[in-house]
Amino acid sequence: MNIIKEIEKEKNFLKEIRHALHIHPETAYNEKWTSDFIAKKLESFGITVHRGWAKTGIVGILKSGDNHKSVALRAELDALDIEEKNDIPYKSQNIGKMHACGHDGHMSMLLGAAKYLSQNRDKFDGTIYFIFQPAEENEGGAKKMVEEGLFDTYKIDAIYGLHNWPSLEEGKIAISKGPVMAAYDNFEITIKAKGSHAAHPEHGVDPIVTAAHLTTAFQSIISRNIDALDAGVVSITQIHSGSTWNVIPDSAILRGTVRTFKKEIQDIIEDRIKTLSNSISQAFKAKAIIDYKRLYPATINNYIDTALKSAAEVVGEENIVKDMPPSMGSEDFAFFLQKAKGCYVKLGTAKKDKDIIMLHNPNYDFNDEVLTIGASYWVKLALNELKN
Ligand SMILES: [Zn+2]
Ligand SMILES: [Zn+2]
Repeated sequence: MNIIKEIEKEKNFLKEIRHALHIHPETAYNEKWTSDFIAKKLESFGITVHRGWAKTGIVGILKSGDNHKSVALRAELDALDIEEKNDIPYKSQNIGKMHACGHDGHMSMLLGAAKYLSQNRDKFDGTIYFIFQPAEENEGGAKKMVEEGLFDTYKIDAIYGLHNWPSLEEGKIAISKGPVMAAYDNFEITIKAKGSHAAHPEHGVDPIVTAAHLTTAFQSIISRNIDALDAGVVSITQIHSGSTWNVIPDSAILRGTVRTFKKEIQDIIEDRIKTLSNSISQAFKAKAIIDYKRLYPATINNYIDTALKSAAEVVGEENIVKDMPPSMGSEDFAFFLQKAKGCYVKLGTAKKDKDIIMLHNPNYDFNDEVLTIGASYWVKLALNELKN
């Protein structure tokens, strides 16, 4: 029986699940409705469900035969703090929350695969783990699951992730070895200065002038300190200071983010941010307090053979994109890939002749046409891993 045709029959089921999840978006560690929904579905397929991983996370376990091999497939539970602007029957009912990253589609595809595999246990020999993780967007739910012992509790030989990709054509899958998503660092710099009357700046120390110089100086980090052939981004995304016209405030706060692929580049940028902040603040008689956090490492695909084979079986060799440049966006799936072999692929969702709406946009909506492609890819991946 052709697996893809079998999964095609589930198209409406996958759509219904996707829309039900879309109506109920929940953010980091509060994915309670979502978690209950997923657990009930997995249980209805006869899959063993372990709950409570990183609060709302779920591990579904499907075992067949006595082979000790195993594979883990991962989807994300969380939505974003965005007010949905789509006019659709399944529009978000949670005010200010929205599935604008397509995690509703990811969950639906993984449930579709879980349903098929649970009904076809004779086709594999080993254990399949269905991982539904919380808090991918900012809080690093994957890291928390690793810290709670995910890889000590279960023997996971290989782990796979996927993300829908609005700029990649529907029906294509991008797969490449090495770095695919950037490391994600955040920083906050508090400039402690001395407030004064705005008419008498000579009596104070101005944090706004210091903040402006810091902002300008940071532009030199990538252009003057990093090899032109290496990638890095330093963005200051917030500056807060002052509250009225005639007062020089006593402090300013700058916040921003850094994206890199290599640890040595990350080290240089962190060092430059600290040195520039301290020395420029000191030069202006202020003091900088720097809080620099390394949040997600770079997502590095360490094994792509089974993904390539499985994707070729679903979309055809000619629809695999092997040379997509890595994204400066970030992914906490990186933490899973530090623990097991596997890879993270990008699933094309761009509809022909339609405007592309990117992830995290209030008008974004997951393309239901790719639900069966993603679910078929998951099924093939599990079957190929467990017969190798
Ligand atoms: Zn996102
Ligand atoms: Zn996402």
